[in-house]
Parts: sequence; structure tokens; C-alpha cells
Amino acid sequence: MYRPTEILIERGEENAPVVQRALTKLPELPVRIVEKDWEQKETRPADSDPFGTGKRRLFFTRQRARFLEHCPAGTPGLVCCNYLVVSLISNCPMDCSYCFLQEYLANNPTLKVFTNSDDLLDEVAQVVDRQPWRQFRIGTGELSDSLALDTLLGFSADLVPFFAARKNVLLELKTKSDGIDHLLGLESHGRVVVSWSLTPPAIADTEEHGTAPFTERLRAARRVQQAGYKIGFHFDPLIEYPNWETDYRQALEQVFATVDPRGVAWVSFGSLRLTPSLRKVVRQRFPQTRLLSGEQVLCDDGKWRTFQALRVKMYRSLISQLNSLAPTVPVYMCMETAPVWQKVFGRAPGCDKDVARSLTEPNLSYGSAPQWDR
Ligand code: SF4
Repeated sequence: MYRPTEILIERGEENAPVVQRALTKLPELPVRIVEKDWEQKETRPADSDPFGTGKRRLFFTRQRARFLEHCPAGTPGLVCCNYLVVSLISNCPMDCSYCFLQEYLANNPTLKVFTNSDDLLDEVAQVVDRQPWRQFRIGTGELSDSLALDTLLGFSADLVPFFAARKNVLLELKTKSDGIDHLLGLESHGRVVVSWSLTPPAIADTEEHGTAPFTERLRAARRVQQAGYKIGFHFDPLIEYPNWETDYRQALEQVFATVDPRGVAWVSFGSLRLTPSLRKVVRQRFPQTRLLSGEQVLCDDGKWRTFQALRVKMYRSLISQLNSLAPTVPVYMCMETAPVWQKVFGRAPGCDKDVARSLTEPNLSYGSAPQWDR
């Protein structure tokens, strides 16, 4: 289990249920009561890795901004799947070399847990319950891993029943952990998708520090599926390296040798993408990384990606493999342009609602018949 070096609690939040749960599980750690703007006022001693240090401090504080936001894939020029995100945690106990949080949270890296989860549920209810005709997908895995801290914090015990009671929204819990025992007794009524981000073991073991090994993630997926949850998989980021094709195709084979494709809500693929400043951080924090050795180019949105012809080749190879292993599983690409959709699937979504509908109404799936495979 994650063990921070200290616990910080915003004054007035000492009795929040999530704080009490964590204090019970980590009774011996030093605790400090601090003001809400503690992090901005702190004089930081010289630190060669402030982001890594931030992960080891656990700060309980209220979220004062909105919880519900649009996923950043809604960037002009990229095909969007109309995904919404809510964050109860900011920063992550795991430490993947490619993680965008290294740049995004560079100025406020302390691992924060928001104490007012009831406000989050109110906010979601206001949006979702007022539009019963619309199907929503909401994920918690944007600013942290959804489950890495859940055995400590217990947020799922509130989230799963809340979403299980609503017919027009799916909750996605996206993770690289295998800590799922506490989910098994909760009733999801098919409204919760527990999904795993996967890379082949050769990458997971060297680039995804502190995560569960590939085989353990799959074992956890099978157990969650057997408990009645929908499951999903994200091959994102797809990393190009000398043996990528064999390794990724084997990984897909292992997935569908382990789980039942009929209970898989979706599989996504997304190319590695790094801003120039994130590349610098990655080089600095992970000098041994293999991420930067592939053939990457600077794209229109200011991010470095594997060059387009190679990306398309990767998507085609893996989606073809997916279609042969699990032809009915919906598939989509994350943060890709319309021209790449056109090359991979033979058609690009007309609008963001098209992708969203392809995932909630599987007969519209993009994965069922790519044109280049006919
Ligand atoms: S699990 Fe996700 S949020 Fe956590 S370090 Fe890895 S990429 Fe970042």
C-alpha cells in the first residue's frame, strides 16, 4: 500500500470521512494541520525532484473549483469522444515516465485528496439527472490513477452505488493497479466500467514505475468482470520500439485469453504524445527511458508524436488483431486527428457525438469493419 512520508490536512477538514478512513489505515504517520493555501506559501528547500517529492506528501483539502470537466481531448483538430472527467485526487502514487502530470502539476505537485466528494456527486447529479435522454461517460482517471489509492481512501464505496443507480451514465474507473478486492462486493448494475491501461510487459516493467505487473492487471480484470462489472482496456500510450508489433499483439492475445470479450465495453488506442517541455522532464527524471528513441515529429497541437505513417501502421495492425480476437468489442482512438481516423477506419466521425454513440450503442462501433480490412 502507498505510504506517504507525512499527512497534511486543511484546517477544518479533520473530520471529513475520507480523512478519518486514511488516518485509521496509516495511524503512525506524522500529521500536520495546515491552511488551504499551504502549498503556495511553502518555502521549498532545494530538491532535485520536487514532483517525486510531491507524490509522497498526502494533502487532504476541499476542492473549490468545479469537479466536472470536459476531457482535454476536446482540443481543436482532434476527434473528441465527448468524455467528461471528475477528479477526487490530484497527482498519483505511481510514476510512469510518460505521465503528463509531470508537466501539468509541476507547480503544485503535492498529492491532493479532495474531502468534499459529496459536492462532486451533487454536481454530477445536477448535470446527468436533468438530461435523462442523453448518455454520459464520466471518468475519474484524469489527474490520478482511479484505484491506486482506493483501498486507502474508499471513494468507490460512494461512487459505485451512485452511478449504479443511474441509467444514462457510465462511470469509468481507469487504473494500472490490481487493488480491486473492495469493488467485488459492490453492485454496479452494468453502469461502472473498470478499465486497465496496458502496455506490453517490456514497457510496463521499465516505464510504469509502481504499477501492477501486466499479468496482475489482467488477473484483476478477470476478477472484476466475474463480479459483474463491465471492463475496458486502453493501449495508450502506444510506444514504438523495435519489437512493438510482436509485443503489443501478444498483449492483445493475452487479454482475450483471460477475459470474456462479451463483457468488454471498449478498447482504445492512443499514440504516445509529449509536449516539448514534458520531453525535457522525462529526459531529466528518467534518463534510461526508451520513450524518446522512436521516430517522432512535432504535430499541429504542439505535441511530439510517432510520425503519422507509422502511427497508422500501428493502429491498423493492432485493430486488425483486435477484430480477429474480439470482433464485437467497440474500439476507438484517443486524441487523434480526423485524417488518421479516415486512414485507419475508412471514415472519420462527423462529430463528437458519433464516437460517444459508437461506445454506448455497440452496433455503431468503429471497430467492427475497418475498410482497409475488407
Ligand atoms: S498511472 Fe496514470 S496518472 Fe499515475 S503516473 Fe501513470 S500515467 Fe500518471
